[in-house]
Amino acid sequence: MEIPEFVYHRPATLAEACELGRNYGDEARFLAGGTELLVDLKQKRYSAGHMISLRDIPDLGLISLEGESLRIGAMATLEEVAASDVVKRIFPTLCEAVLTIGSVQIRNQAPIGGNFCGAVPCADAPPICIAGEALLRITGVDGERTLPAEEFFIAPRASALQPGELLVEILIPFQPQNSGASYQRFSLRHGSSLAVASVAARIILEKEEEKKNRKDKRIADARVVLGAVAPTPLPTLDCMGLLAGQPPSEQLFQHAAKTAAAEAKPITDIRGSEDFRRSLVEVLTFRALREAAARAEGAERAGGAPV
Ligand SMILES: Cc1cc2nc3c(=O)[nH]c(=O)nc-3n(C[C@H](O)[C@H](O)[C@H](O)COP(=O)(O)OP(=O)(O)OC[C@H]3O[C@@H](n4cnc5c(N)ncnc54)[C@H](O)[C@@H]3O)c2cc1C
Repeated sequence: MEIPEFVYHRPATLAEACELGRNYGDEARFLAGGTELLVDLKQKRYSAGHMISLRDIPDLGLISLEGESLRIGAMATLEEVAASDVVKRIFPTLCEAVLTIGSVQIRNQAPIGGNFCGAVPCADAPPICIAGEALLRITGVDGERTLPAEEFFIAPRASALQPGELLVEILIPFQPQNSGASYQRFSLRHGSSLAVASVAARIILEKEEEKKNRKDKRIADARVVLGAVAPTPLPTLDCMGLLAGQPPSEQLFQHAAKTAAAEAKPITDIRGSEDFRRSLVEVLTFRALREAAARAEGAERAGGAPV
């Protein structure tokens, strides 16, 4: 399988890259790490007469703190994200999720932006970013826009990006005190194996002053997002709704897990059947909720989100 010939562009600025993207339209693809795109071209899933490399654009791979947000540049490699002290401090579960991706070779080559922009349903970074209420900053010839990460995904391999638009950075708000998160996934092998199903959860417990005279502390907010079991990463609205306002318990988490499994829209493919995936969602959701709640309680004892 050969990659068809293409013209290789190396723009030095974002504006130049967007201009090229818009001029060549469907004929062009942005090239980040190439770990997905080059395979897709070989398999003739796409054609691209023009390849626009993002490698020479300065500052597109920065990871920094600004205001109340962690900012991760789209060209930060997955290995850089996993090793970053600021990511570990602000949202450590993202590091755990990223470390499930591929192998160290893939993570060194592939930036996090490609994990979003490929819009593959089993990608590992999007569900946990959605659970953490991430925003995506997008730029194009006509200007910039920011949208919640869950609105970025339209269908398998289709995102909200318009011709000439590119993802610049992922903005993750500082996680609330009394919160904890977890990412659980199942794959057929350890290492270089795509998720058959995955679940990201974040739980915020109510604050001491919100507890009033009640003995038990309740869940102020819960976010549960499924991966690899729907055309796009799937926030489980019914499951999230039944968790909010309840005291955390194993019984509650079992009920929530069953609800999440009912909300999943899995397909049968080479990696697993629809029924198998639904069962996985139930097990993984229970584990994710239990771990997220334990971490939220630990964060409360430590006086802040887990580090
Ligand atoms: C052996 C192997 C194992 C893998 N295992 C996993 C895994 O376990 N989990 C997982 O989630 N993924 C896995 N992947 C998929 C892939 O490595 C990741 O999704 C990776 O993050 C893609 O990033 P990239 O920079 O290489 O993307 P590229 O291939 O460069 O690009 C992917 C798509 O996104 C577009 N794009 C990239 N960056 C931008 C941007 N900033 N703005 C606009 N468009 C952009 C490209 O045009 C292209 O359409 C694996 C891949 C391989 C080859």
